Amino acid sequence: TKYVYRFGGGISEGGSGDKNLLGGKGANLAEMASIGLPVPPGFTISTEMCTRYYEEGETFPDSLRQEVADGVAHIEKITGKTFGDPSDPLLVSVRSGARVSMPGMMDTVLNLGLNDETVEGLAKKADDERFAWDSYRRFIQMYCDVVLGLDHGRFEEALEIAKEDRGYNLDTEMTAKDWRALVDEYKELVKEMWEKPFPQDVNDQLWTAIGAVFGSWNAERAKVYRRLNDIPGDWGTAVNVQAMVFGNMGETSATGVAFTRDPSTGEKGYYGEFLINAQGEDVVAGIRTPQYLTKAARAKAGAKPLSMEEAMPATYAELAEVFAKLENHYRDMQDIEFTVEREHLWMLQTRTGKRTAKAALKIAIDMAGEGLISQDEAVLRVDPAALDQLLHPTLDPEAHRDVLTKGLPASPGAASGKVVFDADTAEKAAANGEAVILVRIETSPEDIHGMHAAKGILTARGGMTSHAAVVARGMGRPCVSGAGTLSIKAKEGVMRVGSREVKEGDIITIDGATGEVMVGAVPTVQPELAGDFGTLMEWADKGRRLKVRTNAETPTDCQTARDFGAEGIGLCRTEHMFFDAGRITAVRQMILAEDEAERRAALDKLLPEQRGDFTQIFEVMAGLPCTIRLLDPPLHEFLPHEDGEFSEVAKATGVDVETLKRRAGELHEFNPMLGHRGCRLGVTYPEIYEMQARAIFEAACDVADKSGEAPIPEVMIPLVATKKELDLMKAVVVAAAKAVFEERGRTIDYLVGTMIELPRAALMAGKIAETAEFFSFGTNDLTQTALGVSRDDAGRFLSTYVEKGIYPRDPFVSLDVEGVGELIEIAAERGRATRPDIKLGICGEHGGDPASIAFCEKTGLNYVSASPYRVPIARLAAAQAAL
Ligand code: PEP
Ligand code: MG
Repeated sequence: TKYVYRFGGGISEGGSGDKNLLGGKGANLAEMASIGLPVPPGFTISTEMCTRYYEEGETFPDSLRQEVADGVAHIEKITGKTFGDPSDPLLVSVRSGARVSMPGMMDTVLNLGLNDETVEGLAKKADDERFAWDSYRRFIQMYCDVVLGLDHGRFEEALEIAKEDRGYNLDTEMTAKDWRALVDEYKELVKEMWEKPFPQDVNDQLWTAIGAVFGSWNAERAKVYRRLNDIPGDWGTAVNVQAMVFGNMGETSATGVAFTRDPSTGEKGYYGEFLINAQGEDVVAGIRTPQYLTKAARAKAGAKPLSMEEAMPATYAELAEVFAKLENHYRDMQDIEFTVEREHLWMLQTRTGKRTAKAALKIAIDMAGEGLISQDEAVLRVDPAALDQLLHPTLDPEAHRDVLTKGLPASPGAASGKVVFDADTAEKAAANGEAVILVRIETSPEDIHGMHAAKGILTARGGMTSHAAVVARGMGRPCVSGAGTLSIKAKEGVMRVGSREVKEGDIITIDGATGEVMVGAVPTVQPELAGDFGTLMEWADKGRRLKVRTNAETPTDCQTARDFGAEGIGLCRTEHMFFDAGRITAVRQMILAEDEAERRAALDKLLPEQRGDFTQIFEVMAGLPCTIRLLDPPLHEFLPHEDGEFSEVAKATGVDVETLKRRAGELHEFNPMLGHRGCRLGVTYPEIYEMQARAIFEAACDVADKSGEAPIPEVMIPLVATKKELDLMKAVVVAAAKAVFEERGRTIDYLVGTMIELPRAALMAGKIAETAEFFSFGTNDLTQTALGVSRDDAGRFLSTYVEKGIYPRDPFVSLDVEGVGELIEIAAERGRATRPDIKLGICGEHGGDPASIAFCEKTGLNYVSASPYRVPIARLAAAQAAL
């Protein structure tokens, strides 16, 4: 096997496609060399060698000796210098470079090849004694740190003392003689700590450095970084050995870093900084303040020191040409390192530059406009998840933050407002035009009106799919959930974190993108939805096959979703309508009813209210399919829980407190998620579903009569496990439709279908499809029931599961494709076998998750449904999955 790949001087034994073999840095050095850019010659030892090095007990095979010797000869030939030559020595750098960048995690040695003899040769050749001895002491310092693992503090201390003794403040004040004396001191330190003299044999230096760089792959910090970033341990690193070039050879030398476009705004224009007479580490270390690259940037910042464009106009022009060439070649924004050695420009690195969501969007659109990439490529360039950052107001990144505590980033966006501890107060304050943040230990459906009224929601308990998180995302409200250090004493009107106290009415700010909770108001910046964003969405829609619907139940949310491009409703959760202040009493009367007649009396009061809800929604969604789900949650959720509330509710509903408490007790369930909910409610009390179905068809007829455009109701039965359940419920719906159409003297097209959210339903999909005209995968419940993991309690242990790699990601956030995905595939296949044109969709939280959407595309579903603010994300992800 070949392990060494050469580059530079017209030779290039690899290219940017070889990242797995040569690492990112090595592959791009080879690529730059192959397109004729000035790259110092060198060679890359492949990642395969790294793997073998570890397999063979951290030793090198003999064959590598010859390959490395040939590599060194290649550098010697092109530079005209010889490694270890006392009169004109070749110096090299030895750097790590994995497939993906692991900033600062692994080791580098610079100026390798210096010893007591070659340093004199370097001084003579460079005609700069100070530079030569400074380089030697830097080398000793780095080598001792990286290769010998000696305490670098001792070396820094020696330098500090040397400066102090001479009354200097800066390293730049050290003279050649001073550096020479320090080198002597360093060598003494080595003898003392290492018990051997500093290695003088340059080949010895090289091999130990190569070993150290391979060794740094398994340094503790590198392992931790890999774990945090999902980088497999068996990738290994490559080692790049390259001729040194020097940015610290006086005033005509420099070193710098640059982006070909602004990485935070995406603005076209070179962006970066450089330092005259410095080595790369000086720019990064921040000892001296770097200077701007362009005249324009310097002028904008009002900075004094000349830009590179002004200080070195000829070299800058050459550099700008290289930038243009690199961007054209890679067809993406590049992040670049360069060095100027005595007016000669050298390129040391290029890679695709990291950028903010805003910059990603602008760069993709601009590059398509410039003809650098196609529209489809532009669509593929933007990370759908990053769009979240663009759709909500975000905190001004420049603003000061007084962070109180941190929870989970449950729903993106940022909001400031007065702290309130209950939903009613939130609603009242909002009605008075006040901005409030609703703070609860956890939320329940009863809090919905308060959540809607609030600017943001903060909870002490609950995970990413807790009630608060799901509802907040649905409403587009920022939410921080599960802020565990928060102690909420609602009755006292305070919350505490440690010794800090925040009172009801105090202003706080939450950042739903980071989970931070701050005291006081932090200024925000508004999102920009037209322009580039609109253009990208248009392009995405051209490439998309999956339809995108929304999960919404209020006219406002429906309108938001339509504005974001929703093509219908995929899930309208009717229970949310039951909590409305105007009708909760009638809902409770229905639940408390002792017999069917009483229940029907209560339902008669609800019918006009429900019809009104649907009329409003259908008006917004006219002409589009609207999936309306009949009542799903266990009934006790609508009854009071706290002692104080019972008498109030008793009075409102006209029953005595004792009866109310007894009924609440009867409805209590040990495991309500698997209890009397979903279609089980319809099976036991068909009149409830009958009322809801009637309301749907009456509203549809009303809207069709009025506007001439009918919605297409898709009536959905939840939590079905058997065909028989659906048969019974479909009969109720069909009878209601028939009755309404006869009364109105018209018909409306509609479908009746079911959610697939139980494993049994997925397996029996062939039979269920005899009755169901559509399936909607309720992947929240399907995940819960397939994994046997409670969605409301998962927060306590799922993160550990993800950390230990049991699930690659939180299965309530990103579909468990392997397990739950197989149930979906089975159901889709069996459903289609029975009814080839069956409509298939997904309405669980996963409908807004890009990875899950890719699975939906692969499985050939007809649509995905996501909360309004995720609709654009879903449109983009669906396009990417199809392209
Ligand atoms: C589901 O279970 O995936 C679903 C959409 O319904 P809900 O979240 O209301 O249970
Ligand atoms: Mg469900």
